[in-house]
Amino acid sequence: MNGRREEEVGLLVVGGGPAGLVAAELAARHGLTVLLVDERATFGGQIYRQPGPGFVVRDPRRVGRDYWAGVALVEAARGAGVELRARTAVLSLRGTTAVCLTEGDEHVTLLRARRVLVAPGASDRPVPFPGWTLPGVVTAGGAQALVKASRVAPGTRVAFAGSGPLALAFPAQLRHLGVNVVLALEAGPAPRAPTVARLVVAGWGNAALLRDALTYRARLLGARVPLRYGRIVVRAEGEDRVEAVVHAAADADWRAIPDSEERLEVDTLCVGYGFVPSTELLRLAGCQFGYDENLGGLVVEVDAWQRTNVEGVLAAGDGTGVRGALVAMAQARLAALGAAADLGAVSRARAARLARPVRRQLAAKERFRRALLPLYAVGPGIYELATPETVVCRCEEVTLARLEEAMEATVDTDALKSYTRAGMGLCQGRSCQPQIGAVLARRTGAASEAGSLLDGANEARRPVPRLSGGQLAALAGTTPRPPVRPAAIGVLADDTVPDRGLFVGG
Ligand SMILES: Cc1cc2nc3c(=O)[nH]c(=O)nc-3n(C[C@H](O)[C@H](O)[C@H](O)COP(=O)(O)OP(=O)(O)OC[C@H]3O[C@@H](n4cnc5c(N)ncnc54)[C@H](O)[C@@H]3O)c2cc1C
Repeated sequence: MNGRREEEVGLLVVGGGPAGLVAAELAARHGLTVLLVDERATFGGQIYRQPGPGFVVRDPRRVGRDYWAGVALVEAARGAGVELRARTAVLSLRGTTAVCLTEGDEHVTLLRARRVLVAPGASDRPVPFPGWTLPGVVTAGGAQALVKASRVAPGTRVAFAGSGPLALAFPAQLRHLGVNVVLALEAGPAPRAPTVARLVVAGWGNAALLRDALTYRARLLGARVPLRYGRIVVRAEGEDRVEAVVHAAADADWRAIPDSEERLEVDTLCVGYGFVPSTELLRLAGCQFGYDENLGGLVVEVDAWQRTNVEGVLAAGDGTGVRGALVAMAQARLAALGAAADLGAVSRARAARLARPVRRQLAAKERFRRALLPLYAVGPGIYELATPETVVCRCEEVTLARLEEAMEATVDTDALKSYTRAGMGLCQGRSCQPQIGAVLARRTGAASEAGSLLDGANEARRPVPRLSGGQLAALAGTTPRPPVRPAAIGVLADDTVPDRGLFVGG
């Protein structure tokens, strides 16, 4: 006996963010037995993140509406009979069998499910630039986690650099929570009349999003935080920690324009150039991927019920391409209905009827997203900020120069990983792979065929010949290996395997 537990469940949901919680609740209401696991100590995911264990909410007015939205989703899932298991990470996924590890357990649990919904969300898009590893340079998500979960301000003089709707939201939220934000930089252009007109038209069905954007803008104005469009971070300066941010005017491709640099003293630089979907479990499971930089890069292919090409494996939320919490929840409803129909818990006709309003909602959100692209389409310049000395893989401390030297010998992503160890560390490539993919793409003909890795996906600007999604996907990711989260060897080891004396202690 190796101590490993085995369990069976109807639907296993990986991820307790809005997508996972909504899908779990709906599937349970349709009669499926549902287990939801999340590696964090609390549920709610990124947007509805709850304060960590030990925190008590004394004044409900001060925690904000996201907190209460999270509480409501968790209670609804529990009320529907979902089993919620926190501090439980899925380490591997093969078909519909998942290997999970609950914090404190001595062995892993093997979960066999009839259906698995993978809703792992996204993480900050890593953007290497000189000084990005200095203490005091934080990602937007990291800063948000500090403030939301631990009520700790990331610094006393904070600059924000980034792009996208959340680049308006983040500094406004930080400011609102009492953080001293002294500058906000948006890499994209200032909104002009035609874009605003398109947004107003696409605003039909998206009033809440427009209202949020105006609120955030007003908060920044009210707090006199300068918001500067068309400017990009160039480097962070400092000895032992960040002391200043240097930023420059950016062209339409987000490339820094010479002689436009400005320097501002800060003790914290918060960086938020969008998000990348967490794809490791879906890639391990063997799902097919396409590529769209504006959705975060690698994007899993799903059908109208959020089913991937792997039998029994579904995906929803930001992990399928970053589109925000409302889309995540709508996709989750489709996944739950699809799984319930596949397992015979609801008729296909009823599922289709229930899905109709959800599909209309998704179409409205997609119109809005496309109307926003002229403002926020990701420019290739974002992956051209690193200099040869810049550390690209932080876990293994591999510089851009080292990577480029290795690329003289190979342009195979897996061989590159073996040569340099970039992507082999704790984060398993999550923070270096987008940059490595972009550099590789430039060297390997993606540049001649598609302008660059990013241009190829940049539908808003100019029509360029594209590499297929599959080709780009191959460049952008190495072969994933389990466990996708760090785990002690002892919890994975199978002690029924006889020791043939191959590993003899010294
Ligand atoms: C850093 C960040 C900050 C954001 N801030 C805002 C904001 O301020 N306002 C806004 O409107 N939107 C924000 N968004 C977007 C919004 O949070 C997302 O659109 C929404 O949360 C997506 O929901 P989801 O359920 O798909 O993923 P998430 O909410 O990200 O939830 C995914 C969950 O899956 C869990 N998970 C992942 N992998 C595993 C695994 N292997 N095993 C177990 N559990 C796993 C994670 O712990 C997480 O709780 C932010 C997104 C990110 C990434």
